[in-house]
Amino acid sequence: MSKKKQGLNTICTHVGEIKDEQFKGAVSPIYLSTSYEFDGVDVKRYPRYFNTPNQEFLAKKIAALEHTETAMIFSSGMAAISHMFLAFLQKGDHIVVQNTLYGGTSNFIREEFHKYGIDYTFTNGYAVSDFEAAIQSNTKLIHIETPSNPLLTITDIKGVADLAKSKGIVTTIDNTFASPVNQNPIDFGIDIVMHSATKYLGGHSDISAGAVASSAAHMDRIWNVSKNLGGNLSDMTVWMLERSMKTLALRVKAQNKNARKLAKFLDKHEAIARVYYPGLKSHPEHQLAKEQMHDFGAMLSFELVDGIDAMAFMKQLNLIKPSMSLAGVESTMLLPSKTSHSLLTQEQRDAVGISDQLIRFSVGIETFRDLKIDIEHAIINTKTTSFA
Ligand SMILES: *Cc1c(COP(=O)(O)O)cnc(C)c1O
Repeated sequence: MSKKKQGLNTICTHVGEIKDEQFKGAVSPIYLSTSYEFDGVDVKRYPRYFNTPNQEFLAKKIAALEHTETAMIFSSGMAAISHMFLAFLQKGDHIVVQNTLYGGTSNFIREEFHKYGIDYTFTNGYAVSDFEAAIQSNTKLIHIETPSNPLLTITDIKGVADLAKSKGIVTTIDNTFASPVNQNPIDFGIDIVMHSATKYLGGHSDISAGAVASSAAHMDRIWNVSKNLGGNLSDMTVWMLERSMKTLALRVKAQNKNARKLAKFLDKHEAIARVYYPGLKSHPEHQLAKEQMHDFGAMLSFELVDGIDAMAFMKQLNLIKPSMSLAGVESTMLLPSKTSHSLLTQEQRDAVGISDQLIRFSVGIETFRDLKIDIEHAIINTKTTSFA
């Protein structure tokens, strides 16, 4: 059976397994060696060469999930992003990045690129025309993020990929929010896909990791830089990531389903002013999301009506935890105005649409009814306490 024909859950469970030839155990053994016999011919295995057995085999699973020839695993999402960028950019080059970008990526560009003499432009919006307007004669890379954080805007993946191809520019995408279960950007012409595996691929809020998936030719360039920078993941954690990824599709599909129901519930609730979720018909890019995503994901944001204090609401939640991170099996919420976007001024926040009433919701796998009850109670309790 060829890999392409295998179903998602089979890929998650079995692709990239290491056979335990010695004891016939059911799961991949962990190889902790940092030193391998040198036979003069074979690959020289070494952790920082990203080719120890556990790294090499788990990469096969990620490549299969993202429909690429190959993949590489890193110690964090930022290690994946930074190595990927530095593989394609050098002094005098220019990169176009989406304006609504993960904070860490944005900081990396703003704080480090000038040291390398790399120029950059953040787009004014996320329409294909915004990317086109930002391209210069020295643009080598376009980087997008869709769905975006925290407003879940949808960028036209094929539109941007086609534009870049027509100009010989390489494209990269941060596919963290969607996960490979919900979106496969390679099928729309994107060159390189990256993940913060700390999020859905890990999925239990206990692993820091990153991944990049692409053709072998692009990966050669990334590898050449990465072997100099380090940033490989320990084989112990690679093994944990493999274990986690066996349930990736099960988890994410359960999370998708909860998110869809919660988005509808919140959308109808009188205490909620607005819901941002690509699965809602009212979402401005709902149609586009339908075309390029298998499902709409488990991240959503909503605004409480004025008069219900967002901070007080968060304190009234019992089941849903306040948390900076996302994508675990447990549901979490955060206030972007107090966390990810707290360093911006009020005007800057207004300009990007981050109100004080906005809450980002990473939907977990708990029973839908319990999540709904938790939110309902929190709203009622917040109302009572604020009127007391
Ligand atoms: C968390 C995150 C990253 C960075 O990943 P780390 O594992 O924290 O380094 C990058 N992009 C997105 C969209 C993320 O959510």
